[in-house]
Amino acid sequence: MCRVQSLNSLCMRVLVVGQGAREHAIAWKLRQSPLVKEIYAAPGNAGIAQVADCVNIGVADIIEIADFAEKLKIDLTVVGPELPLTLGIVDEFKMRDLPIFGPSRLAAELEGSKVFSKEFMRKYKIPTAEAIICNSTDEAKDALKKTDYPAVIKVEGLAGGKGVVIVNSKKEADEYLKLIFEEKKFGNAANRILVEEYLQGEEVSFMVITDGKKFAPFAPAKDYKKANDGETGPNTGGMGSHSPAVILKPETAAEVVKTIIMPTIHGMAEEGRTYTGCLYAGLMLTKKGPRVLEFNCRFGDPETQVQMLRLEDDLAEVLLKVTRGDLGDAKLNWKKEAAACVVIAVNGYPEEFQRGQEVAIDPIDDPNVVLFHAGTVKRGGKLLNNAGRVISVCAHAPTLSDALAKVYAAAPKIRFEGARYRRDIGYRALEQVKQTVPA
Ligand code: AMP
Repeated sequence: MCRVQSLNSLCMRVLVVGQGAREHAIAWKLRQSPLVKEIYAAPGNAGIAQVADCVNIGVADIIEIADFAEKLKIDLTVVGPELPLTLGIVDEFKMRDLPIFGPSRLAAELEGSKVFSKEFMRKYKIPTAEAIICNSTDEAKDALKKTDYPAVIKVEGLAGGKGVVIVNSKKEADEYLKLIFEEKKFGNAANRILVEEYLQGEEVSFMVITDGKKFAPFAPAKDYKKANDGETGPNTGGMGSHSPAVILKPETAAEVVKTIIMPTIHGMAEEGRTYTGCLYAGLMLTKKGPRVLEFNCRFGDPETQVQMLRLEDDLAEVLLKVTRGDLGDAKLNWKKEAAACVVIAVNGYPEEFQRGQEVAIDPIDDPNVVLFHAGTVKRGGKLLNNAGRVISVCAHAPTLSDALAKVYAAAPKIRFEGARYRRDIGYRALEQVKQTVPA
């Protein structure tokens, strides 16, 4: 059995943990690596099944996943979602000497606990929004008296991207606090909450991969979290993305590295929580400079979809270096073209929506368009949806406007009852590009 001593033989067995379009994009990119022989996914989806063998183990079943990796002598496991990371999948794998890409349970608290994350940022002077930590409705009401509206209320724990709300009035705040503390909508994830200053500006996602000491930035991307056009409606897991982010100037990116990424990696090591894997900073570019809205402890969804279309390097080789603590001065190379993604979701998402709709995909004869599946499952020969986000339609092209045109030409080809998608992904960014081009 080959155990990947050197990086020049086609022999790796890789396991991807997760079932979304992000994991499909990762598996798709790994499939292009000459180093990779076999790819497994736990649990995967109908699209991932086209490039990997799917095994029916849920993402929260970290012992079963480790048992599987041990039995099959998996050379590299890549974890997509945050849940297994915050449950300690990396610690379980390390105990068994199994290579895995991602942060330990303690390091993943940077995403898993917004309270830890806020206190960490304060301690290491990492620029972020002012916030007050509250344990009860009364504390939250007091905190809101000290904050202007709009204000931001965030539950401490994981809530699938849905635990943040912007409230415009005391009435809205009171209603939301009732949902949190009385109706327990978020269960224990909301035992503590943050009442946070509302920041204005443009949002951008900045990710690096790190072995705990060295890091290599990913191409910045912009994601669109609001459900509806014009940045309206509730927050979702993400409705679209593009890379380049367009709005992030190189000098601002350098400032992000200096004031946010480096102090975070050093600070986490200092705290005895050495951070390895993907460190994702969700940023607001304010007039006073970039501010952290949140940290995520894994790759973004839907940012990964566009980043994988642009990555020139061998993903397996790069991730393996990180897991070996051997990133060195490796730099990632990105295709000099743009990539865009629009998520086809089900009407009602992120609230109530139908599952089990039959999904039809009409032929798309554009080689630059790639579909990454999210909530799809094959049953009785039929493709059905089993989640709110169903398929990421992605494309790459020399310019962002061409990439978006390709995506929007292909989006209607995904057909099911209640299919919907945002029509405005990237348009404001395109306007900004126009504004920066001299007349
Ligand atoms: P988070 O999960 O913390 O990234 O929050 C989800 C979304 O809520 C972000 O992408 C922003 O659109 C919005 N948001 C979070 N925190 C703030 C803030 N302090 N000011 C303005 N918007 C925010």
